[in-house]
Amino acid sequence: MQYFSTNRISRPVSFREAVLTGQPDDKGLYFPDAIPYIDEDLLVQFKKMSNGEVAFEVIRPYVGDEIPDDTLRQICIETVDFPFPLVEISEQISVLELFHGPTLAFKDVGARFMSRCLKYFSKDSGRKTVVIVATSGDTGGAVANGFHNVDGVEVVILYPKGKVSKVQELQLTTLGGNVITMEIRGDFDDCQKLAKQALADEELKARVSLTSANSINVGRWLPQQFYYFFAVANIDGEPPVISVPSGNFGNLAAGMLANASGLAVGKFIAACNANDVIPRYFETGTLMPRPSVVTISNAMDVGDPSNFVRVEELADHNVERLRESLEAVSISDEETIETMRRVYADHGYVLDPHGAVAYAALYRHLSKRPELKGIILETAHPVKFETVHEVLGTYGSVPSSIAALENREKVSIEMDADYDALRSVLLERVV
Ligand SMILES: *Cc1c(COP(=O)(O)O)cnc(C)c1O
Repeated sequence: MQYFSTNRISRPVSFREAVLTGQPDDKGLYFPDAIPYIDEDLLVQFKKMSNGEVAFEVIRPYVGDEIPDDTLRQICIETVDFPFPLVEISEQISVLELFHGPTLAFKDVGARFMSRCLKYFSKDSGRKTVVIVATSGDTGGAVANGFHNVDGVEVVILYPKGKVSKVQELQLTTLGGNVITMEIRGDFDDCQKLAKQALADEELKARVSLTSANSINVGRWLPQQFYYFFAVANIDGEPPVISVPSGNFGNLAAGMLANASGLAVGKFIAACNANDVIPRYFETGTLMPRPSVVTISNAMDVGDPSNFVRVEELADHNVERLRESLEAVSISDEETIETMRRVYADHGYVLDPHGAVAYAALYRHLSKRPELKGIILETAHPVKFETVHEVLGTYGSVPSSIAALENREKVSIEMDADYDALRSVLLERVV
């Protein structure tokens, strides 16, 4: 499999090179040059396979012979070695819980897969690999955890000061070892811009192998298809509507890729918070990135969603065609809170704010279509967000890993959103 750049200037590369470099020089995103087709027979077999086996079947065409089958199978088994329950909370709506991994967020899947691929690829390269990642909350923890103590890899995390939750901050600032955390006086878009500048820095690239672990990296993005297959392959009858809480649009793009490979989905809903660049695009036909605004679903506070170009690629850049498979909705903080209250009162289920955005959008869609069923992706555990306790007075059942975090010491380097400042730290500490 080759990966081309969505800007079509840089040359196509292998899976290995796409993972190692993260992003093409022309600032596009890598995209597979053929979408594998998973036929009906194999989809039926998925029902009987373990999650690890399903993951292996889904990802193998994308990796080809660049990782031996046995190694790739092992990587897949380790990546998804926690539960992915689909919990029915009403007649029409089920919740796909993606928060049972080590950092309690769906990003564990991509981070665990990518770190293991990178370890395999950098094994004999003799060069230090530096992974740079900007985070709006959950990515940092998942990546730090996925790469912690991986030999030959240094991890640099950039997060916006004061804009992540307490649990998120502890998860990304307390690992130490090969993980360095920078606390940026700015927002997520500033962090993302800094990460992109570092990735394009020729002098740094000459010294170390630099890559990104944001969902722009195909090593993180492609495995996010796995859980769509786990959930949907087991559903008989009418294909479900799937509502995806969306910020940078990697998760949604992965679902739509799974759909393009043959997985039957009725419709996708891109559920956004007040950062409504894409819902507006659907209304007006004009894509206008804007500075992000702060909401209670902070991992989705993205004003210029990187991965949307992959969604467009899947629809041949045709908005009309996109509208057939996708609906984009913006949900306010008020409606998010109201939804958390209502779902807890009516069903005894604790949603986190991101899941609540997805629920509100799906509920609206299904209330006009009583014959349909839908799934929301619950992308993080409620305990990661203080708002949940403020609104509901509970986090629901809390995993034991949280207690251990509280006793650890935060270590981070605080700085302005200034590339020269970041660069000096990178040169001094990392390169
Ligand atoms: C990252 C994140 C999202 C948004 O996912 P994208 O792939 O960036 O659209 C949603 N919810 C949570 C909890 C997240 O951490």
